[in-house]
Amino acid sequence: MTPLFPVRPRLLLGPGPSPVHDRILEALGRPTIGHLDPQFLAIMDDVNARLRRLFGTENTLTFPVSGTGSAAQEAAMANLLEPGDTAIVGINGVFGGRLKEMAARMGAQVVSVEAEWGRIIDPEQMIQAHRKHPEARLVAIVHAETSTGVHQPLADIGRHLADSDTLFVVDTVTSLGGVPTELDANGVDVAYSGTQKCLGVPPGLAPISFSPRAVERIRTRSVPCQSWYLDAGLLADYVGEGAQRKYHHTAPINMMYALHEGLLMADEEGLDARFERHAEVGGRLQTEVEARGFSMFAQEGYRLPQLTAARLPEGTVEGPLRKALLEDHGIEVGGGLGPAAGAIWRVGLMGSGATHENVDRLLAAIDTLLA
Ligand SMILES: *Cc1c(COP(=O)(O)O)cnc(C)c1O
Repeated sequence: MTPLFPVRPRLLLGPGPSPVHDRILEALGRPTIGHLDPQFLAIMDDVNARLRRLFGTENTLTFPVSGTGSAAQEAAMANLLEPGDTAIVGINGVFGGRLKEMAARMGAQVVSVEAEWGRIIDPEQMIQAHRKHPEARLVAIVHAETSTGVHQPLADIGRHLADSDTLFVVDTVTSLGGVPTELDANGVDVAYSGTQKCLGVPPGLAPISFSPRAVERIRTRSVPCQSWYLDAGLLADYVGEGAQRKYHHTAPINMMYALHEGLLMADEEGLDARFERHAEVGGRLQTEVEARGFSMFAQEGYRLPQLTAARLPEGTVEGPLRKALLEDHGIEVGGGLGPAAGAIWRVGLMGSGATHENVDRLLAAIDTLLA
């Protein structure tokens, strides 16, 4: 049957969603079963085990939240914060700004540590802010700032916070599966992600991981989590191995198949090989576009391979070029956000999209458009 609104495929080289491999599309089409069916619970347990390995953590409470990355981001803030708490938030792009907004809506007093868009947040500044506010319940920062292409270092902040009662929360939406996250080695208590960036799975699930001390904090809250849907205490009774498997909400069954397939593919490739592929392909794109007159937006030495933010060559106007790239070449890239709107392109080489062939296709299209 011809669909009423047929969709032409695109080559997704923007900030997400990323291209979805046929194996994952096939997994989505498997028979829908019940969320308490032992077959489904076995798949979910395997998803959680593979997520732990990918995150680099032994955290028992690791599972996919129903929703996109923003749902897990909100889950992190809603579960850890109570009204009146202090939250220290690093802001150097859109997603740090959202962390602040969410923390404020939970009733927290937010201490912002800001850096110019395109630059990392100096870990020392975060540590100083914590020395000034040792009462802070959490310190939150974005590992891979998708609005700027900046790769934020985590280890020094994590090491500093390990000796305190303050939890370390990290946004790994664009890092998970593309660059190492190593939660335990970096002293991260809570990290969340999404399926449609470097995992190459459609949008709809959002992995999250809580350390034992984060779980303890949630269990000892004085007021309940303001979100019932995202309450990690309630969710733990369903998602945890050996838990009561108590119904909370219906898990997105077919999306779980898709995430499972994506994680299998990551493990088959090998995590180190996967990170190496992203590094190599993204590094090559950055060299090639610089040779064509683009200039990198993110600070040298701290550039994400999976998300290239670049100013266009002098004398070009980005909007019409990006439109022609989509309409004439079938390739999607992202424009700039906030202060970078109209000034940059954001090119994602994520998941199964991170290939030399895709770099070749994009460069050929750019050469045609700029000619
Ligand atoms: C995409 C993204 C989010 C939000 O995820 P959605 O899936 O769009 O809800 C949060 N943080 C970062 C760094 C992102 O790139």
